Amino acid sequence: MAPALADRVFRYTGETPLFEALDINRQIKEALKREVSLPSGGYIVIDSTEALTAIDVNTGKYVGDKSLEETVLRTNIEAVSEVVRQLRLRDIGGIIVIDFIDMARDAHRSLVMRELEEHLRRDRTRSAVLGITHLGLVEVTRRKRRQSLPELLTRTCPACGGSGRVITETAAGRQARRQLRKLARETQSEAFLVEAHPSVAAVLIGPGGSHLRELERETGKSIFVRGSEACQVGELRLVAQGSRQDMLAQALPVQAGQVLELRVEEPTFPTAKTASPGWRATSSTSRGRPAGWARRSRWRSPRPSAPTPRPGSWCERRLLSPPPVSVRTLHNGPVAKTRTPSRNIS
Ligand SMILES: [Zn+2]
Repeated sequence: MAPALADRVFRYTGETPLFEALDINRQIKEALKREVSLPSGGYIVIDSTEALTAIDVNTGKYVGDKSLEETVLRTNIEAVSEVVRQLRLRDIGGIIVIDFIDMARDAHRSLVMRELEEHLRRDRTRSAVLGITHLGLVEVTRRKRRQSLPELLTRTCPACGGSGRVITETAAGRQARRQLRKLARETQSEAFLVEAHPSVAAVLIGPGGSHLRELERETGKSIFVRGSEACQVGELRLVAQGSRQDMLAQALPVQAGQVLELRVEEPTFPTAKTASPGWRATSSTSRGRPAGWARRSRWRSPRPSAPTPRPGSWCERRLLSPPPVSVRTLHNGPVAKTRTPSRNIS
């Protein structure tokens, strides 16, 4: 902080937390968004790569009675100030390439360039406009001082490895089918149990179990498929292999109607002050939904006013039946909706 600005600093004594009072959380979220809208309906898209940051300017829907040229100019001018604001807000440095909307007139082009230079001059971090390429891309370099906001607050998405795209369920299903064929060729066991993401498991099993039946016929093996949220789309886990009997037992670890004793770890909320008196109640299994389910859904989406559980508190729950998992084999008749315990059972 510059010493000259020291008198602008004061201690906040308000009742509401500072981040709430100034709506900081929303602004941080905004500063991490890929798309930023402009006042007249246009928007910019910010993409940072290893080498450079690309900023694309778009008109959005055509608005007003002005000519297209006017709309384009206005959107580009609006984009200039927003782009510079975002560069500062996000602390983006290095090479920046801005793709303005094509302008037919030279006068408009130079107007936008002048505007950009003007705005960048007011930015305290030094930057340079290197000019406009043949394709109308404007190159800017901005000094990089420290990590940008996205670098500081986010990490590469583990599901897509940063590409922003993941394999579709259908493609993952086909891939899993090939893996199962290979597995069937290589194993001596008559049966195996695999786990896949629920949506992929559904593709693998097929309508009425048709796909799995076909695969079993083709390979001569008994194949048990279990949906698991712990699997990524595109991931197939071999859980076990062996005799058909063993696999069947493993695929259906719990019989329908079986009563389970569950110990549920309650999540901790930062605002937790009191524990709900009703929270610890042991639900007696009655007809319909076990009482435990209703409570569970409450702590999944806690309202700020709702009482939150004390950290470490726990309650015993008797469940009529745990979450469903589809299991199907050729020898097992039609798709059996069986139930297995959820992962938070100990
Ligand atoms: Zn991703």
